[in-house]
Amino acid sequence: MIKKKSLRVPITSIPPEGLEVEVDLGEPYFSRWRAEDPGLEFSDALITGGLRLERHNRDILVRGSLQGHLQMACSRCLEDFGGPVDVAFDLLLAPGPGAAGGEDEELSAPDLDVDYYSGETLDLEPLIREQIILMVPLKPLCREDCQGICPKCGAVLNLEACKCK
Ligand SMILES: [Zn+2]
Ligand SMILES: [Zn+2]
Repeated sequence: MIKKKSLRVPITSIPPEGLEVEVDLGEPYFSRWRAEDPGLEFSDALITGGLRLERHNRDILVRGSLQGHLQMACSRCLEDFGGPVDVAFDLLLAPGPGAAGGEDEELSAPDLDVDYYSGETLDLEPLIREQIILMVPLKPLCREDCQGICPKCGAVLNLEACKCK
């Protein structure tokens, strides 16, 4: 099995037995991403993992697993906390509308998420970013029983007793 590190993969470089793409994203990557997108809901992060690409005619099957660590703000007490995250996903990349080869038989995959690509090179970065964003919980909690903040005095109730009556 060939292994690849770049997240831009020419489709013709995917051999019949498939291609493994290594994912290793550290702090330099995430600070660049934050500069592009200040609305990101996590601060520090470290994500590693891999994708496996398989060609089925013009469709590309992507099986991925990512794991690592995200630093998030608790939705109750607003304190920063770090938590382990992981995700595994399968998705199908089909040639976008208008791409050549539309007569090919398509991989029937009712259970797969389908995305589209165009051109002859797959850019895996948007797909990986989407999965990382999906790993951030809707309401991150530093701990299950986080006490939050007193709406009246602003005390962080995990750390201090509330002074209100
Ligand atoms: Zn909290
Ligand atoms: Zn209070």
